[in-house]
Amino acid sequence: MTAGRDATYINPRTGATWSTAAPLWKAPDDGGYINLTPGVGLTPSDINGLEHSFWRYRKAVRLPRPPEITLGAGWTPLLPAIWEGVPVHMKADYLMTSGSFKDRGTAVMLNYLKQVGVTSILEDSSGNAGASAATYAAALGIDCRIMVPAAAPAAKKIQMAAMGADVAAIEGSRDDVADAALAEADRNFYASHNHQPFFLEGTKTVAFEIWEQLGFRAPDCVIAPLGQGSNIMGCHIGFSELLAAGQIDTLPRIYAIQAANCAPYHAAYESGGTDPVTIAAQPTIADGIASATPVRLREVLAAVRETNGTTLAVPEDEIVAGLSRLAKLGFFVEPTTGAAGAGLSRLLESGIIKPNETVAVILTGSGLKAVEKIGLALGLTDY
Ligand SMILES: *Cc1c(COP(=O)(O)O)cnc(C)c1O
Repeated sequence: MTAGRDATYINPRTGATWSTAAPLWKAPDDGGYINLTPGVGLTPSDINGLEHSFWRYRKAVRLPRPPEITLGAGWTPLLPAIWEGVPVHMKADYLMTSGSFKDRGTAVMLNYLKQVGVTSILEDSSGNAGASAATYAAALGIDCRIMVPAAAPAAKKIQMAAMGADVAAIEGSRDDVADAALAEADRNFYASHNHQPFFLEGTKTVAFEIWEQLGFRAPDCVIAPLGQGSNIMGCHIGFSELLAAGQIDTLPRIYAIQAANCAPYHAAYESGGTDPVTIAAQPTIADGIASATPVRLREVLAAVRETNGTTLAVPEDEIVAGLSRLAKLGFFVEPTTGAAGAGLSRLLESGIIKPNETVAVILTGSGLKAVEKIGLALGLTDY
């Protein structure tokens, strides 16, 4: 194994490093978030084509030992669709075991934690990350406690509880839930998908898949909803590894779509600077991206800018229109994912994306967990 095929924790602010032989979720020196040192990517001959999950890229997914449980995460279809007359590719990440793209990150993070001796975890989530953690914890035999906003969709809470997680509903905002989890983080390993960097080691595989499914080419741009940024960072890390490995010539432009009612990234982007900007967050139908104070703001913003992409903030009515349009093309996704549809419409209408470009849209979460909310949003109240 070459050095780049082993992961080391690194504090991006101080440059200090720590071995991944023991689990960490924050930097021991300054208490901020940590990353993994860069990976080396892969070439087509590194792929195990017999493996029908993202573990086909095992050579580039750094985990001490082979995964104990995969539950088949990843290797989701990249489906052609016509959006307002323009051909695009829909990456159907809502088709994973727990019903969202979060399985990419969870599958790596929980296999890693088990391999380094963690037997019990604490997570906080607005829904899908908790559902994904509960799924992998159940399959791996890890005790799992999840703090959720009391207002989180019942279907997601039931999904977690059915798989044996201890689900604690917390009153207040998404940030209040994170604070409640932090208060318990000294008693139970805090397997926060927003902090623990092995989560990003998993989300980066979406870039490898899009590249392989396009015939080993990068698209011109990628569009995804943005909450904390694990999906955006995953795209950036994965495509950057492919660039470093000489497999693509340029990074695809990343378009990160926020709900206008809760758009801390877009506010910071528009300010032209790199610092967080205080926002007045309002409730949004896109509950999966309602993060007012994201952990990795500077890093995610820098990733978007490096690719010549942009953030966008879309209002509630456009999110619902995006959701409806997706459904009518056969993609039954949750309202949060409707934001990606809304972003795609705006980017095409404004000419920022040209009709002849190769566009990949990441469809992040299944509509089956949000049926009642979708019914209300689309006026389907007779059923
Ligand atoms: C978590 C989630 C997002 C946002 O992902 P981030 O990594 O927090 O930016 C988007 N869509 C769905 C369905 C999600 O569950």
